[in-house]
Amino acid sequence: YFRALEQAGILLNKPQLEAVRYGPGPLLTLAGAGCGKTTVLAARAGYLMAVRSVSPSSILLVTFTSKAAAEMKERIALLPGIRPAAARAVQARTFHSFALALLRHQGVTEDIFGDTQAQHTVMKMLLRQLRLSEAYQPETLLSALSAWKAEGRSAHELPETSQEERDAKQALLAYEDWKKERQKMDFDDILLRAARLLHDPAVLLPLQKRFAYIMVDEFQDTNTLQYEMVRRLAAKHRNLMVVGDDDQTIYTFNGARQESILQFDKVYKDAKVITLNINYRSDSRILGLGSSIVAKNRKRRAKRLVSAGREGLEPQFLTPSNPEEEAIHVVTHLLRQVEEGALRYSDIAILHRTASGSRSIFEQLVMRDVPFIQYGAGTVFYDQSLIRPLMDHLRLALNPRRMECIPSALGPLYVPREAGMEHIQKEEKKQAKKYPLIHLTRWERLRDFQQEQVKERIRLIKSLAAMKPLLAVQEMRRVFYDKYLESGDPGTWTHYKETLQESLEELETAARRFDTVEEFVAFADELSERHREMESLRNAADGDAVSLMTIHRAKGLEFPCVYLIGASEGILPHSTSLGKESPEDLLTSVTSGAQADPEQLLEEERRLAYVAVTRAKQMLYITSPAANHGKPAAVSRFLLEAYGVKPSVPSGRPNPHAQHPGAQARPGTQAKPGAQTRDSKARMITVPVWNCSSSACSAWIRKDIKHSGYARNEIAAAAESAPLCPLCS
Ligand code: ATP
Ligand code: MG
Repeated sequence: YFRALEQAGILLNKPQLEAVRYGPGPLLTLAGAGCGKTTVLAARAGYLMAVRSVSPSSILLVTFTSKAAAEMKERIALLPGIRPAAARAVQARTFHSFALALLRHQGVTEDIFGDTQAQHTVMKMLLRQLRLSEAYQPETLLSALSAWKAEGRSAHELPETSQEERDAKQALLAYEDWKKERQKMDFDDILLRAARLLHDPAVLLPLQKRFAYIMVDEFQDTNTLQYEMVRRLAAKHRNLMVVGDDDQTIYTFNGARQESILQFDKVYKDAKVITLNINYRSDSRILGLGSSIVAKNRKRRAKRLVSAGREGLEPQFLTPSNPEEEAIHVVTHLLRQVEEGALRYSDIAILHRTASGSRSIFEQLVMRDVPFIQYGAGTVFYDQSLIRPLMDHLRLALNPRRMECIPSALGPLYVPREAGMEHIQKEEKKQAKKYPLIHLTRWERLRDFQQEQVKERIRLIKSLAAMKPLLAVQEMRRVFYDKYLESGDPGTWTHYKETLQESLEELETAARRFDTVEEFVAFADELSERHREMESLRNAADGDAVSLMTIHRAKGLEFPCVYLIGASEGILPHSTSLGKESPEDLLTSVTSGAQADPEQLLEEERRLAYVAVTRAKQMLYITSPAANHGKPAAVSRFLLEAYGVKPSVPSGRPNPHAQHPGAQARPGTQAKPGAQTRDSKARMITVPVWNCSSSACSAWIRKDIKHSGYARNEIAAAAESAPLCPLCS
């Protein structure tokens, strides 16, 4: 088997081999990014079948996403001596798909209620019925419930020590009843119910018997409930193999517990621990940067990673003045690489920290016809659920009869959308109005105050048309959200508030570029249009496309070339983790409060930076915009720390003049990131990719390099070989 594997291009190293062959008994395989954890899992499944004649259906392989599960099956199918039918029979599943299969097998027939938007709508309605909608946001409560259930507890067990908690519980129980009456279950229910089913020996024992081998990938991100399920299932054979990297725990907001992996060998006293420390993914300079970033975390198992690859290229940095310029640079640069034949689009990933952090780059990609796939969101920023209603108000301001925009503008009014639209359309047939919304002001189903609200809304829409786009956005923000954003109500889920705040700021930044609402709306419309065309073209073509995704989504993946954008203070680390009191939210009181410690929040951000950097195989470009949402932003502390450069101001307050790592460092005098790199001559400084003469140009730290400690002739030599930056050329 192993010889055949080698012929197929996989020459396992010693600890990898040991992990593949280990058994019986629990096994923890701990390794940094790219050391072949997932590879080992697949190879082990193949080994068990091909060599140990284990039946495929008695192997359970748990992965984090359904995409990973599908890939796992593909990988197994390619292994030597594995028949396609056997590869298909291996149970490669996510926790949720495993749980759902179990429920269905047990005769549970409820529909899945998985649409987040629909859940919010239901919760909103229930809050209104309970007269609690002033005090709570639906998102707040639902995520608190989710975190609660991730710990294996039901809504009935929610605490009720304060009035707030009692109110929250009442609303959440109403939500549970609502689902029950309609025979529905959401994703958390699926997991919780399956976990509870496993308490029943009649259910558990056959499963324990069946799954002789259980393996879990990305174990660092399992939550309490998932961990408990695995432990129960594995209790008979005890052939539980978990692989993971404590440095890649990035889902604590979903209830992931780093402790699970840190203490696995304490829970399973006889567990074998195998560490893999050869990274096959990244060239050594990239790995070096990743390692020195995460080395600053205190809560971790120390690791030493060596790169099996070449030394490769130095990671490159750029400090564009803002995200707009950042997007221009990145897209121009990647286009050039593809044009020169160095890369295909699909070799490239662009990673960003927050959902709204991709707005500028998305626009550049669309407007310059770069084929790309956005994982997760996949929609134009202006069409996203938080932003769409505002844009639709602007559209109505220009053309009040744009019917498709009316429903979304009705949303914030608490007017029933469907019935409202029906009424408008019926009345329009009798008599068309310039402002079709006006029909609602005479609709007997609405109460006086609601009719008044509609009138108010029409006045607002009228006034927006003549405003500057930025002012128009600010005006809507004032009317729709300020009251909520400024409220210090304890039921507010900080995370949601931050997302909303961020999206609104992003919209303001976007609007600022236009002089008239007309231009702004025309741009958003064109963007949607072009994006739709691109989508259909891409689906028809061969799928060669750039990947655009959040760092969270990039987990487990690898790309020859990675652009990490937004590596600035306030973005990465994210502002929610900086210089704040612990988030005052409901979650803290109902969950264990794992998130509350600011130090831990910062450590999670550092892990995110580590995950991002270690996705790259050969090329890594990091950009740190000097401003975000119009406010100055310093270079991310994670980069400065890694390069041994002290931030010039105390953390938390951004310094627009902070220079990029390398700028203040003398070559050879500082520890290089990732001391494992063999080349002692390696420099901390980054080499400019572009050589521009214009003093206005801010391309790849050309200015910073002057202060780098490099000899003048070295700078000249480096600069000479570099081309003009895209802005200048
Ligand atoms: P992550 O922590 O990011 O999930 P991982 O530890 O799961 O990473 P893999 O994705 O399994 O790492 O492997 C990283 C890369 O290294 C893959 O391209 C894989 O094919 C390659 N690789 C792993 N082991 C070997 C080996 N023994 N020889 C050659 N290449 C290997
Ligand atoms: Mg992996």
